[in-house]
Amino acid sequence: EAEEEIHFFFPKQQTLAIIKPDAMAEHREEILGEIRAAGFSISQLKEAVLSRDMAEELYREHRDKPFYRQLVDFMCSGPCMLLVLTKENTVEEWRSMMGPTDPVLAKVTAPGSLRARFASDILHNALHGSSNQEHAQEKIHFLFGDITSDRDLTSNGKMDPTPL
Ligand code: UDP
Repeated sequence: EAEEEIHFFFPKQQTLAIIKPDAMAEHREEILGEIRAAGFSISQLKEAVLSRDMAEELYREHRDKPFYRQLVDFMCSGPCMLLVLTKENTVEEWRSMMGPTDPVLAKVTAPGSLRARFASDILHNALHGSSNQEHAQEKIHFLFGDITSDRDLTSNGKMDPTPL
């Protein structure tokens, strides 16, 4: 008699992840390694220096916040690594792997998280991750255009830097 099994299939989801300028020189390879080890597929990846306009658009939702100008200055202060991560429940999983925005809090509540380990302060906090699926799709489209192929770069993260 066949055993009944219930399978749950979760559709793959995409999120935008960014290694911010503060983490690029020292921690980029370790972060990429951890992303792969955690089972994310790196579907798109490019190194770029964001223009001011692009950084402003990326963080448009924060334009009225007191930290907006500093944030935009910081985000275009050097190269970033832009990544599209694909996994089940990827938006939430990537945010959980990053940890809280403020590394002071991250060190207490999520000591193993990437921000607990690599962030310097609440502004220079090493990583970006979309807060929901709608933002993820909008910002991925903004930074990568129409993605025609869903490449899996998981085992070979190296690509030539692409100027924006
Ligand atoms: N940020 C800041 N001061 C704050 C809150 C946020 O400088 O009080 C910066 C920080 O770099 C953060 C980004 O603005 O990652 C976007 O803020 P958000 O609240 O969306 O945090 P996140 O989703 O990145 O954790």
